[in-house]
Amino acid sequence: MRIVLVGPPGAGKGTQAQFIASHLAIPKISTGDIFRYNVTRGTALGRKAKAYMDRGDLVPDEVTIAMVRDRLNEDDAQQGFLLDGFPRNVPQAETLEKMLSEWETRLEVVLELVVDDDEVVRRLSGRRTCHRCGRIWHVLFDPPARKDTCDDCAGELFQRDDDREETIRHRLEVYQDQTSPLVAYYADQRILLGIDATGPVEEVTDRAMSALRRFID
Ligand code: ADP
Ligand code: AMP
Repeated sequence: MRIVLVGPPGAGKGTQAQFIASHLAIPKISTGDIFRYNVTRGTALGRKAKAYMDRGDLVPDEVTIAMVRDRLNEDDAQQGFLLDGFPRNVPQAETLEKMLSEWETRLEVVLELVVDDDEVVRRLSGRRTCHRCGRIWHVLFDPPARKDTCDDCAGELFQRDDDREETIRHRLEVYQDQTSPLVAYYADQRILLGIDATGPVEEVTDRAMSALRRFID
């Protein structure tokens, strides 16, 4: 299956992507994770992306699209994938469509995670991520047993630089201006599925999986 997850920052895309991708046995491809990996290692790609990420702006399309094209060309993505954080504007969506049609395939479904702004701010301000395995936690809503330590791999947890209040607000504006038009774009193509992304993580996963199964059958 070829799936895109869409929703504001903090909607729970990364959290749900971990479970959905594993249920469907497809790779989770998160552009934010790939950028952060490159920023941490100081690669050429990371140096290009860093300033935009620190401000909460989108990294320029040509940089992002080239990176996604390379990733989608890898062997593990040939039978399907779950994209988290891409596309993030209409030009990226149009390019993805062209890229997939060159490869004689297409997106099957776009899953929109619906949550309101207040919940997003609560989620982002308590988000913690594992340095070692990338697992996402929350200090109140999904806390690890030991503070700042990942239950899964004992890695150290960190708070993302762009999860500061000012940057969060800016990222929400960027979502409204640039990313939210994708909802209408994919609704027009009749591949949009919206689900309520509030409530416990497992309930949201159940909702996502039953929506996806109905779509496949
Ligand atoms: P996104 O990838 O959309 O930016 P994340 O998956 O990183 O969002 O989730 C943001 C924060 O919200 C994380 O700290 C995560 O643990 C928490 N979170 C995710 N889903 C839920 C949920 N259903 N209820 C409460 N908190 C959640
Ligand atoms: P995320 O982890 O999805 O919240 O993304 C973190 C940051 O990475 C964003 O605020 C952007 O700066 C950058 N980024 C991730 N995905 C994209 C994309 N598709 N296009 C442009 N920038 C992106």
